[in-house]
Amino acid sequence: MSPVTHDFIDREDAWGAHNYHPLDLVIAEAKGAWVTDVEGRRYLDCLSAYSAVNQGHCHPRLLRTLTEQAARVTLTSRAFRNDQLGAFCEELAQLCDMEMVLPMNTGAEAVETAIKAARRWGYRTKGIADGRAHIIAFENNFHGRTTTIVGFSSEAAYREQFGPFAPGFTLVPFGDIDAVLRAMTPDTCAVLFEPIQCEAGVLLPPDGFLRELRALCDAQQVLMLADEIQTGLGRTGTLFACDHDGVTPDLYILGKALSGGFYPVSAVVSRRDVLGVFGPGSHGSTFGGNPLGCAVAREALRVLRDEQLVERSAHEGRWLLQQLQTLRHPAIKSVRGRGLMCAIELYEAARPYCEALQQRGVLCKETHGTVIRLSPPLMVAREDLAFAVGALREVFAAGGIALRQTADGRRQEPQ
Ligand code: PLP
Repeated sequence: MSPVTHDFIDREDAWGAHNYHPLDLVIAEAKGAWVTDVEGRRYLDCLSAYSAVNQGHCHPRLLRTLTEQAARVTLTSRAFRNDQLGAFCEELAQLCDMEMVLPMNTGAEAVETAIKAARRWGYRTKGIADGRAHIIAFENNFHGRTTTIVGFSSEAAYREQFGPFAPGFTLVPFGDIDAVLRAMTPDTCAVLFEPIQCEAGVLLPPDGFLRELRALCDAQQVLMLADEIQTGLGRTGTLFACDHDGVTPDLYILGKALSGGFYPVSAVVSRRDVLGVFGPGSHGSTFGGNPLGCAVAREALRVLRDEQLVERSAHEGRWLLQQLQTLRHPAIKSVRGRGLMCAIELYEAARPYCEALQQRGVLCKETHGTVIRLSPPLMVAREDLAFAVGALREVFAAGGIALRQTADGRRQEPQ
């Protein structure tokens, strides 16, 4: 690491809380699928800010919309109306084939909003006794970092010493429809799920699981809450990951790519009977639904459509997965993916592989210890994907095994 990069890292580590373990590079600029660090080195971004920059970094249309809107009006609060909110809600609801939108900012806030909506719906529509509403979620879930949300995480690192936690949640194994059925009670108002568990290592549910879940929720008068914050808006090769199973949930939770990485915009999208439970004073956010966020999100959705990014994700993702399936190395346990959400699961720690890829100009971040996730922006060119595959081939050919600690504790880098 050069002294320039070192200085940036030292400063951040001295003054910032250490709640992340980033790779040792400092990004100064980005465009499309590529980022440039403070030393002028270029890297292909195969993480896309956890799928927030599906449209590509610094998309010119989003940049124009952001600056034009910022020069007009940025924030009104919901105490007054603004001229972007109605159009944003209409366009997003129509895209989702739903009836109502409630805008927030971060993904976690949207998940919290969905939890509130489902509980209130449970009391008003299902007749659950006040204070007893119950939600089923899945082991290895990732829905954000608020205390309510980490309270029903199965990941010790997310929960440790952050309690006490909110009651009212039951966890069952992901993909186990019998376990969902067993966990259901007359007080169950919702099942909260990710159609693909991305942070858990890109875990796909068994075929037919979401359809069975839909049928079960219908039979038991329970809402299906689909957290599509990471999987939604084209990432998996369909508009929503639920589309792979032909399933429409009762409520979508969206974020990340909703604003193409420019500005935090999230939203809950559902039917009138669900989001209609909110009246004035029952929920809100100073920044939620602000004109700057709404204008950027409207343009981000138009870019998704005009550049056929959903179709590109399906097409390029298919090619990428085929290429990954040809990688041969004893450290590789499995390769999986949908659209441009692909993963290589290893028998050993993925971090040294991500560091070796970084040396070759490809940025990936290990997830769940042993998984290398590949989720480049959806506009990524085929030749860039080929570059990433070439780097992977080199890293594995150089001997992934050799990346392990040697007997004397030194780490061997690939040649
Ligand atoms: N839900 C899912 C599926 C996510 O992947 C994430 C973030 O990675 C969140 C919720 C939380 O979103 P945010 O970090 O914007 O709060």
